[in-house]
Amino acid sequence: MAKTKHLLSPKLSLTFLSLLIVAATLAAAAATKGVDSPSSKTGRPRPFKKLNKPVVLMISCDGFRFGYQFKTDTPNIDLLISGGTEAKSGLIPVFPSMTFPNHYSIATGLYPAYHGIIMNKFTDPITGEVFNKGLDQKWWLGEPLWVTAANQGRKAVTLFWPGSEVPKGSWTCPKGLCPHYNSSVTFEERVDTILSYFDLPGSEIPDFLMLYFDQPDKEGHEYGPDDPRVTSAVSKVDKMIGRVIQGLKKRKIFDEVHVILLGDHGMVANCDKKTIYIDDLADSIKIPADWIDAYSPVLAMNPRWGKDVKNPGEKNAEVVAKMNKALSSGKVENGEFLQVYLKEKLPKRLHYSESSRIPPIVGMVGEGLIVRQNRTDAHECYGDHGYDNKYFSMRSIFIGHGPRFRRGKKVPSFENVQIYNVVAEILGLRPAPNNGSSLFTRNILSPFKET
Ligand SMILES: [Zn+2]
Repeated sequence: MAKTKHLLSPKLSLTFLSLLIVAATLAAAAATKGVDSPSSKTGRPRPFKKLNKPVVLMISCDGFRFGYQFKTDTPNIDLLISGGTEAKSGLIPVFPSMTFPNHYSIATGLYPAYHGIIMNKFTDPITGEVFNKGLDQKWWLGEPLWVTAANQGRKAVTLFWPGSEVPKGSWTCPKGLCPHYNSSVTFEERVDTILSYFDLPGSEIPDFLMLYFDQPDKEGHEYGPDDPRVTSAVSKVDKMIGRVIQGLKKRKIFDEVHVILLGDHGMVANCDKKTIYIDDLADSIKIPADWIDAYSPVLAMNPRWGKDVKNPGEKNAEVVAKMNKALSSGKVENGEFLQVYLKEKLPKRLHYSESSRIPPIVGMVGEGLIVRQNRTDAHECYGDHGYDNKYFSMRSIFIGHGPRFRRGKKVPSFENVQIYNVVAEILGLRPAPNNGSSLFTRNILSPFKET
């Protein structure tokens, strides 16, 4: 059994706890502010005429790399940008820049080390149990937005958001509000389903809706980000945004709904000429394949030491030192593009150490590089993500449109853990403790509707 208590080391958990307390205090203040809004104090007209309450529709386009919006005409995305607030140079994913960790960071405001989904697929180094996008609630820590909403008596709808099918708190993934993931449901059907909730009687309209498209990620993986088929996928996604906008306009609520358009990560091309082969290190150190849980874009290593090894930590440190020496020797092809760390020595900016689920050794793979065991593995060119979140290619988009987002505003890039507080603030929800800053909401939201 994976246990939550393993996830935080005692020393660091105290620091984290203090952070959480501060965040919770600040957030509670912010939430109170949200309830007692300036518009109610000053007698300004409430921004919500037809809906009579704040509503957020969050749309994720998987793998929508920042810059894709310039590949082709995207009139609908452009309309949201010009009428709303945009992260000028894109949205920064959390590390590792993979789908499940990032969607769940967006939903919880937590880094993967704290929400538990540390990769799309991983083996718990302590229990040996495998997570592979499963719905067992023991893996999914933290409090996602749909749970925060349900706990506070609000209505949430999730259409395929990773993690949303996991029962948690007051959230039971209710029938009709939380369809099970089905990739064959067309994008048009997804949009129309979301729009249909706005045809319910006023009091039954959900407060918070989440919509997920598995494009342009799919084409990006298959052909790399520069392929014309990715351009077509971007165009299709833009058309779906247009369908959302038209549907809201038809219902005369486009200016009342807060539409947040974002992606989970970017995409970069890789190729067999940019591969690092683990067996090439054999002169310095032999790494058995069963030590490696994942090769790339994150090298996840958990050496299987026998019971006679008294100090596995020391042995792991030796492995790291030998690997790095070999990689920097100039004798390993592309070796300079891989650096190996004990997880506790990873750069702090990655926030990727305080979980027992993270393997003891983590290799940071250079942008667009592949790691394989040996040359007998299949070679091909394709696209991937999951790399260090410092790379521009891993960035996605963030656009907020609606009463609380200023028109035509650009904000500097930010990490997606900030989004939880933004949604909580718009909906007037008390946020659960998270890694975002409650002060961030002041940068991105106006206190009331602009006239
Ligand atoms: Zn993704």
